[in-house]
Amino acid sequence: MEAREQGNERYTRLVRGCFRSGGYIFAGKAGDIARERGISRIARLASNENPSPPSPGAIALGCAALKEANRYPDESMELLLQRLRQTYGSYQFVTGVGMDGVIETLIRILVNPGDKVAVATPTFSFYGIAARAQSAKVFSVQRKEDYSVDPAVFIDAAQDAKISFLCSPNNPTGTVTPPGVIDEILAGIDGILFLDNAYVEFSDIDYLPLMNTYENLVIGRTMSKAYALAGARIGYAFVPAWVLPYYRRASTPFTLNSVSAQAAIGALGDSEAMKRYVTHVRRWRERLLCECAFTAAPSDANFIMVDVSPWTGDAMVRELALRGIIVRSCASFPGLPDHFIRVSIGDEWENDLFLKEIRAIREADTDRSSKGPDLP
Ligand code: PMP
Repeated sequence: MEAREQGNERYTRLVRGCFRSGGYIFAGKAGDIARERGISRIARLASNENPSPPSPGAIALGCAALKEANRYPDESMELLLQRLRQTYGSYQFVTGVGMDGVIETLIRILVNPGDKVAVATPTFSFYGIAARAQSAKVFSVQRKEDYSVDPAVFIDAAQDAKISFLCSPNNPTGTVTPPGVIDEILAGIDGILFLDNAYVEFSDIDYLPLMNTYENLVIGRTMSKAYALAGARIGYAFVPAWVLPYYRRASTPFTLNSVSAQAAIGALGDSEAMKRYVTHVRRWRERLLCECAFTAAPSDANFIMVDVSPWTGDAMVRELALRGIIVRSCASFPGLPDHFIRVSIGDEWENDLFLKEIRAIREADTDRSSKGPDLP
């Protein structure tokens, strides 16, 4: 064995078991397939991003902040907190590097090795990844066949969990959990409920009144979706006041960089572009649901989940990539069968291309095998 390999093995043995496999799945591979085919204009419908640039207000403040980036940010993030209060009312907030950053810090505050963490499944994978990194025992609570959450089942499973995760509208199913169900769950569990509202701007639901009643509710939000700032990594959460001092101790010293914080302030103060995008999503969501030639679940988010059987999700992702469209296979979401894809609502041309190609696949499909064609 080469000396370098021996050295690697000696030190990789030190790596904790929870990082030896798994990890977050990115949509990179399908993009490579399209590029290898020489397709330069690729429809990027895999990551639920806003296809438009950030609002002019976000760009102006973010660029101005970059000019002063020789200085550390204001660690209190006071200007952003003020802007959040102007936007939503007098709630308490914490911020983080994406909602992912907020989730990681909260888990660090609450979870000791061996503690239970409950997750309404199928859903976004990072809750489980972050909890396992803290050596938690992750307990999946299966959603019903229509992807709704049964409050009694959830309470039963989550009763003794330190923190439970419920995503609404849910990624990848698009399902909304009514505030009444959240109310019931909050009253029935002993731990904290993290309600992930990454996609709430695309729905009609308002959970904020629940913040006034419950001390065990945290509502996570992101500026990666409706506000077109995925690359700036800005997350925040509505928290009960008791969380604040612990959050300060458990987070990295600066929860956001100064450029992102200013871009967030600009985006919240200039929300016209966001509202236009939400209108665009609502219009296209209905159209894609009706016209995609396969069965799709109703969605309150900026994506739809499509049942592509008899194809597998992975085979359909490859087939669409060959046609210049990147979507996400749901095969990696525990608790879902392997015949779903998740498709983000993109620009007009991207949505048109997706509809055209998926319908062509459907038409050519009638005498294909259940796994799709053999691909190069
Ligand atoms: N929650 C859900 C449900 C998501 O889909 C995502 C991003 N895909 C996140 C949280 C993370 O958001 P952020 O980009 O702010 O880290």
